[in-house]
Amino acid sequence: MIDALVPPYLRRLPDDTRTPCYGHGELMVPDTPHPPATLTDAARALCAACPIQQACADWATSTRQPHGVWGGLTPAERRAVQRPECGTDAGWRSHRARNEGCTTCREAHDERLREGRRARLEQEHREHGGSLAGYRLELLLGLPTCVRCRAVRQEHYASLPRAPKWYRRTAA
Ligand code: SF4
Ligand SMILES: [Zn+2]
Ligand SMILES: [Zn+2]
Repeated sequence: MIDALVPPYLRRLPDDTRTPCYGHGELMVPDTPHPPATLTDAARALCAACPIQQACADWATSTRQPHGVWGGLTPAERRAVQRPECGTDAGWRSHRARNEGCTTCREAHDERLREGRRARLEQEHREHGGSLAGYRLELLLGLPTCVRCRAVRQEHYASLPRAPKWYRRTAA
């Protein structure tokens, strides 16, 4: 294998261990972007006999290796099983679908949520001065509520018809 491309799990193998691709760098990662099928098939055949095929395929897929056959998978095959990148909305949704926890994706998702709420609050202030929605957004964002939003809220609740307290009701 070309030294710069040796992934960490291969470096950790004992010195006398040779994977089937050892010494076949040109076959596994050919110089051309569209290698002939015979070359790809030969590379695949080597991987098929490799004891660390799964780790190799996982590594190449997760690190998005653009070239070569790794773990028996071509770049196109790896792209097909590729998971969306962590930190993106697609990454967050893919974790949720699999019921997985990911700090990077959760923090990025929370930040996007806050960003959206900040933008909506700005819009409320710009378009209405203050509003009930603005008041709620200020609470959700952990911001001090502003005078205008508070005033709208007070007005809103003051205008609601109030049922008389039970002890003030006159007997029918
Ligand atoms: S799976 Fe293929 S590319 Fe990966 S170490 Fe084994 S032979 Fe080499
Ligand atoms: Zn993630
Ligand atoms: Zn406000």
